[in-house]
Amino acid sequence: MIRFQCPYCGVGCGLYIDDRSKVKGDPNHPANFGDVCKKPLYYPKVLRKGRVKRPLFRESKGSDFREVSWEEAIQIAVERLKSLSPHEVYFYVSGQLFTEDIYVINKLVKGFLGTNNIDANSRLCMATAVTAYKMAFGSDGVPCTYEDVDDADTFLFIGSNAAISHPVLFRRVLKRRREHEGVMVITVDPIETETARKSDIFIQIRAGTDTVLLNSVLYILYKEGWINWDFVKNHTEGFEEALREAEKFPPEVASSVCGVEERYIHLLAEAFAKSKKLISFWCQGLNQSSNGTMKNLALINLHLATGRLNGKGCPFSLTGQPNAMGGREVGYFPNGLPGYRDVRREEDRKFMESFWGCGRINPEPGPTITEAVDLILDGRIKLLWVVATNPAVSLPNLRKVEEALKRVFLVVQDSYLNDTCEFANLILPAAQMGEKIGVMTGSDRTVTLCKPFSDPFGEAKADWEVFCELAKALGFADAFQYSSSEEIFREFVRATEGRLCDLSDMDYDRLPLRWGKRWIYEDLRFPTPSGKARFHPARFELREGFGSFVLITGRLKNQWHTMTRTGKSEELLKGEVPPFVVMNQEDAEELGVQEGDLVRIISKYGSVDRVVRLGNVKRGHLFAPFGYPREFGEPTNLVLSDRTDPLSREPDLKYEKVEVVRL
Ligand code: SF4
Repeated sequence: MIRFQCPYCGVGCGLYIDDRSKVKGDPNHPANFGDVCKKPLYYPKVLRKGRVKRPLFRESKGSDFREVSWEEAIQIAVERLKSLSPHEVYFYVSGQLFTEDIYVINKLVKGFLGTNNIDANSRLCMATAVTAYKMAFGSDGVPCTYEDVDDADTFLFIGSNAAISHPVLFRRVLKRRREHEGVMVITVDPIETETARKSDIFIQIRAGTDTVLLNSVLYILYKEGWINWDFVKNHTEGFEEALREAEKFPPEVASSVCGVEERYIHLLAEAFAKSKKLISFWCQGLNQSSNGTMKNLALINLHLATGRLNGKGCPFSLTGQPNAMGGREVGYFPNGLPGYRDVRREEDRKFMESFWGCGRINPEPGPTITEAVDLILDGRIKLLWVVATNPAVSLPNLRKVEEALKRVFLVVQDSYLNDTCEFANLILPAAQMGEKIGVMTGSDRTVTLCKPFSDPFGEAKADWEVFCELAKALGFADAFQYSSSEEIFREFVRATEGRLCDLSDMDYDRLPLRWGKRWIYEDLRFPTPSGKARFHPARFELREGFGSFVLITGRLKNQWHTMTRTGKSEELLKGEVPPFVVMNQEDAEELGVQEGDLVRIISKYGSVDRVVRLGNVKRGHLFAPFGYPREFGEPTNLVLSDRTDPLSREPDLKYEKVEVVRL
C-alpha cells in the first residue's frame, strides 16, 4: 500500500494505491479519513498518456524539435542563461510541485542567480488570500483546521463552489449538518451552483459586489449592537476606519448594488452575531478579482468584529492547488523566502544569506507573471522557464500571452506535452506524482509524504534533480549537492525553525503531520507589529467595460485546471465537453437562443464559441468554465483581461464584460 497526496485540489486528501493499481482514500489521513472524489480515481489510467519522453530542442520556433540528451539540454539552458543578465530571465513555477522542488528552485534563483524573477501559478489562485491574511493577521497561515468543521453550526460559502471544487471538504460540512440539528449552510454566489443547491440559504449576488454586501453586514452588526467589543478592543485595531467605510453601505444601498434582498443582508449579520461557531469558506470568487483583497478583508473584518476565531469560527481560505500551501512555506512568490520570510525584510535576507551561504539576496520583489508577460513584450525578459503549469491556457488575455511566448526563449519543464509546449524551444521531461518522492501541504497545514509507485516515464527526472543539475552546471555545485529529496526536506525544515510555520520537528517517517497548533492564533497574539489583528477599510470598486453581459468563469466538476491529466480520461470528460456557457433562461429567450445553440462570446480581448446550457445564473450574467485546452476548443481566457488586483496582483479572472451573439 503506497501512500501519497491527491495531485488535484488543495483539500490535500491522503490517498493510497493498492496492489491492483486502484486509487483509494487513505482512512488514516486527517484531511479525508478515507473519503475521495472522482478525479484521482482515474490517475493511474492517465499517468502515462501524452507524456514527454526525453528532452526536446529546437533553435527556432518554426522548426521541428529534435531529441537531445539531458547533458546537451542542460548545456543549452546554461549557455542561454549565461548569455543573459539575471533580470532578463524569469521562472514561472507551480503549486503542483513538491515542496522540495520549490525549495531548490527558489534557492537557486533568489540565493544564487541574484534575482527575484520568479512567480508561481498560485498568483492566479490565492495570491489575494495571502495578501489579505497578511494584512489582517500578519501571516498567511490558515488560522484553523478541518477539525473545526466538526463542531461548527454555521458555514458560509462565498465565491466558492466547494461541492465540486473541494468536494471532500464539502461532504464533511454536509455530514456535520446531517448529524446535528440546527446546522446551517449559506452560499453567496451569482450562480446557483451545486454548493448553492445543497445549502439552506442561497443569496444570489451580482458579480463583483461582495465588498458591498460584506460592508453592509458590518454596518448592521454595529447598528444592532452585535459587535464583540471585548474582542475588538483587546485584540484588534483599526475598527473605526473599517466602520466608516462600511457606513457607506446601509442595507438599502447594498441591496440595490448587489441585487440582493435586504432581508438576506440581515440574515448574514444575524448569522455572524448569533451562531455558535461560524466558518466562512472562500475561494476564487473573492480572490480572482480586481477588488479581491478588499473582498477578502471585508470578510475578515466580520470575523474580527464578532470575535469569530478559534473556538468561535474562522475565515478559511480554500486553496486551489495541492501544494500551494507548501509553496507559501517555501516563499515561492517574488517576495518570499523560506519560513514565511520576505525579501523586503533585512533580517530575513540576512538569515537566508547565511543559511544558504549565498551572496546578497535582492531586496526588491520581482515582477509577477502578468507583469513578466509585459516585460517579455518590452524585450526586457528574454528567457522564460515554465515548470508544471500551462500558461498558454491559464493566463488571462491569451492573445497577448501567445505573442509573448512566441518572442521569448521558452523552456518548458513538464511531464506532459501541453499547450505551452507549442511555443517552447526546449522541453524537459519531468517525473509525475507517483514517480518521485516528496511532500505537499494541504489547505489545513497538513504535510503529507508522497511515495512513488512507478518508475519515471522515459527519461523523466524529478524537478529538483533538474534544478540541481542546472545549478551545478552554472557553477554552484557546493550548495546543490543533494543526494535525495529527503535531504532537501531536512534542510528546508531547518530554515523554518522558530517561525510560525515551524516544520523543524518533521521528518519523512512521521508524516502526515500538521504544522502549528489547531488554531495558530490560539492566544490571540498575532504576528503584526502591535501583536493585534488589524481591521482594514474595505473599499469597493467595480471596473465596468463594454458589453451587456458579465462573464464569470470557474471550474468543471470532474476536470482539473487545464485538463492536462484529467482531460485524458473518458470517464472524467463525460458531460464536460464540448465547451459550454451557462445562461439564464430569460436572457436566452431575449437573445432568441435555446439550449444546445452555439453562441459567440465577444470581449475587448477576443472571442470564443460556446454551446449554450440553461441554468440559474443571475440575469445579465454568463458562466463559462475555464481551462479548456485547444484540443477541445478555444480557451476561455482568450476573452479575459489581464487587469489585476492592485494589492495582490491576482488577475481579475472572474469578471469580464462581454457581448453574446447567436451563431
Ligand atoms: Fe483530490 Fe480534492 Fe478530490 Fe480530495 S477533494 S480527492 S484533494 S480533488
